[in-house]
Amino acid sequence: MAVTHLECKECKAHYPLQALYVCERCFGPLEAVYEHQRDGRDVGELRRRIQGGPQNIWRYADFLPLAEGPPGPSGRLASRVGLPAGCTPLIRADRLAERLGLREVWVKNDAANPTHSFKDRVVSLAAARARELGFEVIACASTGNLANSVAAHGAALGLDSYVLIPADLEEQKVLATGVYGTKLVMVDGSYDDVNRLCTELCAERRWAFVNVNLRPYYAEGSKTLAFEIAEQLGWEIPDRCVVPVASGSLFTKIAKGFDEWRELGLLDGQLPRMNGAQAEGCAPVASAFLAGHQVCRPVKPDTIAKSLAIGNPADGPYALDVARRTGGSIDAVSDEEIREGIALLAETTGIFTETAGGVSAAVLRKLADRGEIERDESVVLLITGDGLKTLDAVRGSFPTYSIAPTIEAFEATVPEGVAAV
Ligand SMILES: *Cc1c(COP(=O)(O)O)cnc(C)c1O
Ligand SMILES: [Zn+2]
Repeated sequence: MAVTHLECKECKAHYPLQALYVCERCFGPLEAVYEHQRDGRDVGELRRRIQGGPQNIWRYADFLPLAEGPPGPSGRLASRVGLPAGCTPLIRADRLAERLGLREVWVKNDAANPTHSFKDRVVSLAAARARELGFEVIACASTGNLANSVAAHGAALGLDSYVLIPADLEEQKVLATGVYGTKLVMVDGSYDDVNRLCTELCAERRWAFVNVNLRPYYAEGSKTLAFEIAEQLGWEIPDRCVVPVASGSLFTKIAKGFDEWRELGLLDGQLPRMNGAQAEGCAPVASAFLAGHQVCRPVKPDTIAKSLAIGNPADGPYALDVARRTGGSIDAVSDEEIREGIALLAETTGIFTETAGGVSAAVLRKLADRGEIERDESVVLLITGDGLKTLDAVRGSFPTYSIAPTIEAFEATVPEGVAAV
């Protein structure tokens, strides 16, 4: 096991690898720390070991905070049977690039996970660690996608699950959660209220709240996105990543993933410019970036991008630091721009994303319009969730033609291409 301990991100105090998440001395968040041993292996051997792993996130088990090493030839490890996530497509999006006046744009389509969002990566980690630590119940505070994933992982692993959500979530996300037989608790309040309630419950119950007491393990799951992107690009780091930001965990951990592999010599070159994407209706990190602040002022969310609606982001200060350190930024877009972002991606790539993906697509367009992206840059756009879960965002956004079943009605009503004119 390469992971050695948990460490406070602020005062660097050490903690054991238990269900701990906050520093007793300074209340800072805890993070997993590793000591990688290369055992005389060169880079080629390290890469081959990864490439020989299973077609899911467990191929990166050496770099994740679990007690058990990578799976054996059978691919079966007690904690990791269940719902394998990862190995999602990285697609070269030339028509999107052309539309934006760019040369090399890639779309990482993480909607192609078992419950259709990147949350399956983080929940797989938290659930596997929860089993190692002997928990029998998993739980979460969710803005939507986490609810789907925790409920599904509970079902796959035979663990009881409790999912707490704000009562006003999209119906598609509620239905796609309840179906797994979880205890679905609709809370009359915002995500930040739900999260506070979960923190209180966590102190009273021996439950594994994936994004509270298991958060240091949960968060490491997002590194697998960086690992996959690098592997899919032929062991290269892209020049820029555009990533949606809610709590800021995904954004900071993608940078950490590239960084860890650079330190090991698995990758060369510098970190990508990290561009964070928020909705104007919930933009505490983007506002702090613009104002030059080190911390975020909490806001009350009001946006169609509900999966990003965290008004008090736990990793806000670290996201600001990553954006500034890498020469990136955190930008915000309006609900109208989010809808346009969804349409732009759908029309140029065939990928239908939820509102959070509309946020990252719209921010990419904004960066391109501002002339911030050099022509020779390789850009990776992170698509983290599926459009079928936020159908209301596109309702009424395109024309349809209602006709009688005759050729005459068709010709009278349906516009045809230039040839017909
Ligand atoms: C949760 C989520 C994110 C980002 O979450 P962080 O809290 O910033 O890690 C991005 N996109 C979607 C679709 C999500 O569900
Ligand atoms: Zn501390």
